[in-house]
Parts: sequence; structure tokens; C-alpha cells
Amino acid sequence: MVADNREKRYAQQGIGSSYLFRVDHDTIIDATKCGNLARFINHCCTVSLDQQWCTPEMFYPPEAISQKKIVIYSKQPIAVNEEITYDYKFPLEENKIPCLCGTENCRGTLN
Ligand SMILES: [Zn+2]
Repeated sequence: MVADNREKRYAQQGIGSSYLFRVDHDTIIDATKCGNLARFINHCCTVSLDQQWCTPEMFYPPEAISQKKIVIYSKQPIAVNEEITYDYKFPLEENKIPCLCGTENCRGTLN
């Protein structure tokens, strides 16, 4: 609900690209206005990265934890200047967004 409202507000403000990242059914992280460089990882149907969700208790003492963290692991070594990609697995929608990844296994659309 909050994410839907933000997406509409961003569109009204002329922010064409939002960076709303679903963690689970109830949690969406909004990196539209702040976040690290990982928010600019492009989609590709043949991915080089895998995504795993983990609770931050794995990295910090419990008293310092209040939010979930996104952790992205590489499936393979990453060369200097190599583009890293990720399959965003957008939900299926009627209005399709064409995929431009150009890989052999491209599904043709992002959603
Ligand atoms: Zn593709």
C-alpha cells in the first residue's frame, strides 16, 4: 500500500524510474531517492548475480538491528569493468515492458 502510493507520487512528480525492491510479501525497500550503487544493477534474463534474503542478525548484534537487509551474491567471479546484472523477476502484467538484455535466453519482456 505504501509502495503503491509512493510509485503513484513519483510518477506525478515526474520521477520516471522508481527503485522499489520487494523483499517479501510485506516488505518493499524504496531506493528511489537514496541507496547505494547496487540500485543501478540492470536487469538481464541470463543473470550473473543471485539474490538471497537474509536477516541482518547474521551480520550485526541483535540490539543494532531494526530493518531487513538485501544481500546480493555473485554466481561467478566478476572482472574489472564487467557489468553485473540481475533478474528482477517482475510480476506478470498486461502492459509489457520490453527487455533489451539481448542474451540468447531473453524472455522478451521484463514482466
Ligand atoms: Zn532479456
